[in-house]
Amino acid sequence: MPPSAAAVRSILESNVTYLNGDQIKALEAILQNRRSKLLQEMRAYLYREGDHGQRRLAEASGAGDGAAATILAEMDIGFLQHETAELRAIDAALARMATASYGTCASCGNDISLARMRAQPTAHMCLACQQHVERHRTCDSARAGSKME
Ligand SMILES: [Zn+2]
Repeated sequence: MPPSAAAVRSILESNVTYLNGDQIKALEAILQNRRSKLLQEMRAYLYREGDHGQRRLAEASGAGDGAAATILAEMDIGFLQHETAELRAIDAALARMATASYGTCASCGNDISLARMRAQPTAHMCLACQQHVERHRTCDSARAGSKME
């Protein structure tokens, strides 16, 4: 039986630095909850957008070659991209729970702090490694745009 919301809160507020089994269960409940909400939202969005998209396609018909593609490209798929990415992150986190690698940094192998996992239950890197990756990403794009070196 999944823990109640209050139980989840009190488990996660306990004063330890790293995740224990109970806390992983609590985070799993949060992720599962978020996952079903996301799927619900995506279904609702597709249902609405299905009608909307067909109307716009109907408007576009007779507007000439390539119009349908243009209309489709104009449709707001940003929402779904965001939701899909989040869903993928949740599924990956749940898979890590199943293999007991959840809460361990995928880069350096150290435990990720509870504070970080609580703030971002889908985190797969510790803060130091995450920042390292982000710094390098910033450096790479800065370098690509500069004529120095
Ligand atoms: Zn790390």
